[in-house]
Formats: sequence, structure tokens, C-alpha cells
Amino acid sequence: MLYYNLSTYLRNTYGHRLGKICIDGGFTCPNRDGTCGVGGCIFCGERGAGEHIVKDGITAQTRRYLDSPAAGKYAEYIAYFQNFTGTYAPPETLRERYASALIDPRIRVLAVGTRPDCVDGERADVLASFINDRRDVWCELGLQSSSDETARFINRGYETARFVEAVQMLHSRGIKVVAHMIIGLPRAEGVREGADDVKATVDLLNSLPVFGVKIHSLYVIRGTRLDSLYERGGYEPLTLDEYAALAALAISRLRPDIVLHRITGDCPRGLLAAPDWAADKRAVTDAINEKLRLSASDAAKSSI
Ligand code: SF4
Repeated sequence: MLYYNLSTYLRNTYGHRLGKICIDGGFTCPNRDGTCGVGGCIFCGERGAGEHIVKDGITAQTRRYLDSPAAGKYAEYIAYFQNFTGTYAPPETLRERYASALIDPRIRVLAVGTRPDCVDGERADVLASFINDRRDVWCELGLQSSSDETARFINRGYETARFVEAVQMLHSRGIKVVAHMIIGLPRAEGVREGADDVKATVDLLNSLPVFGVKIHSLYVIRGTRLDSLYERGGYEPLTLDEYAALAALAISRLRPDIVLHRITGDCPRGLLAAPDWAADKRAVTDAINEKLRLSASDAAKSSI
């Protein structure tokens, strides 16, 4: 095994893989509505990292998935509040929305994607209240990069110290934290993050009680501010080979107990402006695996 992937973790923990129910919880984002920023992160599309989800009632979305042929492939499930900021509402509203999804005992995980600056003690308590003997709670936090300089340029809207605080707050309540990082972010107009930035981000994650990591490639979605930057020549996407090398670097540097939930992005069909390779997930995964195999074989040779 080249790394500890999610399928392996799920088999070890639950005895099988879990189906994922992607739910639009009706949330917005404080980085879009003016509370902490406007326009959002420069790469974010209109639906906030959940472009394929159809809006509907939470229970209806869950039921529809459970009744679908796709659900038949799995015995148990993850209820995943994916788009926008899944803790951006008053605590009682959050409680109701999460409970609306947990309509079936086969749902073993409640997973909520959010921003670190939208996690406080009260909201962490609400999340933790859904943990029981049969159910785990995961909270996904978008870090993207440990660099505050990059964070400012991409309009992330919070300092990295806030991420560290949120991880501790969630972990201390038994919530499993999954961090998102993005490879290939611009740090300034015409300047892209490189290997040193990837190492710094991974080193920060390694120093924290993080359960999982999602690694994404940066792709340009049409109509975003990144798209404007790209159009005027201020951002050059990574090549597939560059991305594979940096992703392999990140993976091989991560603590071995950290579960890799994904190693590339999932770009929305029809909205991709660049790079073309981002649409071919299989090719990206194969390229990363090849880099990992090569570096493992180089390491083996140098130890002989
Ligand atoms: S925090 Fe998430 S939803 Fe909000 S603008 Fe950034 S990527 Fe989009």
C-alpha cells in the first residue's frame, strides 16, 4: 500500500466501505455574504465545493439517495454536508439540520465541511452530541495552505492560527478532523506555491491531531476570480507531472496514521477552464501513484 487511504480505513473500522450521501444543508458562507469577506475564496464556484448537489429538503435528499440503486452497493453510509459552510447557522438550527439527515441507523458517520472561523465551543458541542456507540462525527476544515500570505491572496478570510485552534477544539470533543489542502495555489499575481510551501503545510498538519487529509489540485472554474486571474495571465496552472510530483511529496511526508481521503480534486463537469488534465481523475491518480512507486524504489535502492 502506497499510503493509508480512506477505503482501507473504512474497511478496518466498519468492515466495509461506506456510501456517501452528499447533502446540501442550505448553508451559505461568511466569506461570500460580507460577514468576513465578499466574493469568497478566489477559486470557489457558485455552489461552494458542492457544484453537483441538487438543492432539496435534507431528509428528502437523504431518502432519495438511500432509495437509489447507488445506495444498494453499500451496507452503511456517511451523511456528508458538503457545500458552503456547514456550521454557519445558530447552534439549534445546526442540530435540526444534522438530525434531519440522520434518519437511518445505517448512517455511521455524520461529516460536515466548514471553515475554522465558523467553529466555536457551542457549535463543536452540537457536532459532538451526535457521536454515539454506532456513529462517528467528522468535521472537514478548509486550510488549503499554512501560509498566511497565500491565504490573504486567495481571500481565505482567516489566519492559520484560527485553523489550529479549531482543530484542537474539535479533537478535544472526540470529533475527527479532516483537513483540506490545495496544491498549486497562487501566493501573489504570477507567483505559485511550490515544494517548500507544500512541506510547510504538511508539517503543520503533522503537528496537529488531524485524522484525515484531502489533497486537491487547484483547477480554474469558469467565472471565478481565479478564472479572471488566469485569463489575464496572472496564474499558470501546474502541469500534470508537476502536480503529481508535489502531491507525492505531500503524501510521503504526511504522518503514516493520517488517512488520505482524496489525492486530487473533483472538478465540476462543464465548469472547468483549466488545466484540462484535472478532468481525468484516473490519470491524475495513476501519475501520483507512479511518482510514489518511483520514490519508494529509489529509497529501497539507496538503502542497499
Ligand atoms: S470558505 Fe468554502 S464555500 Fe466559502 S468561499 Fe471559501 S471555498 Fe467557497
